[in-house]
Amino acid sequence: MERTLVILKPDAVKKHVMGEILTRFEKVGLKVVAMKFLIAKRDLIERHYPEDREELWVGIGNKTLENYRDLEMDPVESLGTSDAREIGKMVRVWLMDYIMDGPVLAMVLESPHAVELVRKMVGHTLPLVSAPGTIRGDYAYDSSYLANSNKRAIENLVHASGTVDEAKYEIPLWFSEDEIHNW
Ligand code: GDP
Ligand code: MG
Repeated sequence: MERTLVILKPDAVKKHVMGEILTRFEKVGLKVVAMKFLIAKRDLIERHYPEDREELWVGIGNKTLENYRDLEMDPVESLGTSDAREIGKMVRVWLMDYIMDGPVLAMVLESPHAVELVRKMVGHTLPLVSAPGTIRGDYAYDSSYLANSNKRAIENLVHASGTVDEAKYEIPLWFSEDEIHNW
């Protein structure tokens, strides 16, 4: 058995698709072992997206650069830099604002291979790239270029832990032991 953290971000709440997304997870057989609806506080989000996770921010910066290359757009023109790390740090600020912008539905889901399974259902980070049939592919069309041009995070409805280690780090940030139910 494995556990993963899923957060339906404020755009999922605003689009009234929380139920539809949850239904997808339930239909596949993922078990809800914890859930809460909350407006996340800054200190929680600071820990959820730690500033010193260099590889994450450089990775996000590189993904942005790749998306710009695909679209034949100049990153310097819209962002003022083509440095992956700098872009990643810029995105971090937008991302924190985005996720604190309204209430979110946070949950812990459990199944064999829960982390991989949920990521497969959620789809690629960029809704423009994510396949139809995935959550991001079915409910959004955002891209790095669109988001970055408007100085905001990519709105992609869902956060899901990327690896088993990430899930082990994230779950206790959002839920105490007695909020997670073994049933
Ligand atoms: P995820 O695990 O698929 O959510 O993707 P990451 O962990 O790499 O990024 C975290 C979140 O940051 C994403 O879900 C997006 O909301 C946002 N994000 C990622 N890359 C970019 C980007 O290039 N530009 C902008 N504006 N936001 C981004
Ligand atoms: Mg991630």
